Amino acid sequence: MTTADLYDAYVLKNYGRAPLTLVRGEGAHVWDDEGRCYLDFSAGIAVTAVGHSHPHWVAAVQRQAAELVHTSNLYRNPRQGELARRLVGRAGPGRVFFCNSGTEANEALIKLSRLHGMKKSGGEEGRCHKVICAKNAFHGRTFGGMSATPQEKIQKGFRPLVPGFVFGELNNLASFEALIDDRTAAIFVETIQGESGINPCTPEFLRGLRALCDRHDLLLLLDEVQCGLARTGRFYAFEHAAGVRPDAIGMAKGLGGGFPIGAMWLDEKHAGLFHPGSHGSTFGGTPLACAAALATLDIIERENLLEKIVAQSAPWHAALRGLAAEFPAQLREVRGLGYLVGLQLAGDPAPYVAALREAGFLVPTAGNNVIRLLPPLTATADELAQSVEFLRRVFAAKKNPGL
Ligand SMILES: *Cc1c(COP(=O)(O)O)cnc(C)c1O
Repeated sequence: MTTADLYDAYVLKNYGRAPLTLVRGEGAHVWDDEGRCYLDFSAGIAVTAVGHSHPHWVAAVQRQAAELVHTSNLYRNPRQGELARRLVGRAGPGRVFFCNSGTEANEALIKLSRLHGMKKSGGEEGRCHKVICAKNAFHGRTFGGMSATPQEKIQKGFRPLVPGFVFGELNNLASFEALIDDRTAAIFVETIQGESGINPCTPEFLRGLRALCDRHDLLLLLDEVQCGLARTGRFYAFEHAAGVRPDAIGMAKGLGGGFPIGAMWLDEKHAGLFHPGSHGSTFGGTPLACAAALATLDIIERENLLEKIVAQSAPWHAALRGLAAEFPAQLREVRGLGYLVGLQLAGDPAPYVAALREAGFLVPTAGNNVIRLLPPLTATADELAQSVEFLRRVFAAKKNPGL
């Protein structure tokens, strides 16, 4: 049986999958089972942060696999302690909980909001439990994450949801403020909405949310699962909004450079809300997962990727905006920061994504008619320029099918 046959026969049909079997990767490129090479700006949906099979990452994972893979959280392991120290060093005084995915990181944030609400209401459980999220948000597929994700295509069939989630308009502070009452425990947003089409919170909006949270004793929870970990040219995306520090951050995707790991950072002043037994994960923070994440952070630092992303994204964004000027009927807007970019198309992106794939360029879609560009953080200026050429060719062919 071919791989396609095996998927047809045995794999759950819960994804709209491209007809492509990938067998190997190196840097910003992947190869299919027929030996065709693709420039990969899907990066496993912002996961393979330092490219495919980076030699430093491979060596660290191989070394750790031979030494110690898993111990559970019944015991300490040196990699988890070191990774927590590195993440705290970036976010500020606090502590880290490790899990395995973005939605699990967000579950931890939602559980934190419940503990905070209980403390706020003098120990009464269940009274102060409301969380204000944003319309068009995406926070994951588990019940907490899904309940914070007000999208019919994601919630349909799975109701009843977790109660207590209400939704304001992104970048409309008054709409969030109007939802606050004495049962509100937290405000929870993506610093930059990813799945719904690369919609950033403005710095003023984030500062406004911080002030609302301070005034009403609410936690400011930021989902940086997609936008964090250097993708925007700052380690955390909220660093673009001077003066904003959240109470907790959810991260995952790029953290392990391809190995599954998620994390919640929380400020020291809330860390005492958790105590032994109050939350946990069998796999969370294994030596192998943490070694993969440490290697990823090493590469970000040693190769000065933050500086490179800032420097290289400016001409890249300019070239993409040039495409919008060249093909205004097809490409309406270019949004995003650093290596997290959304191309707002005038219509359905599916035929574009298919044509780009056939040309040798892999990209995911998002939200409302958007193509996402998620190069690995290690992408070179040349690879960014190639992406513009792939796009130009496909826009030109769609504009004039006779060419
Ligand atoms: C991908 C994503 C999630 C869910 O992460 P999983 O690892 O798929 O559970 C949550 N929030 C945001 C912002 C994401 O982009």
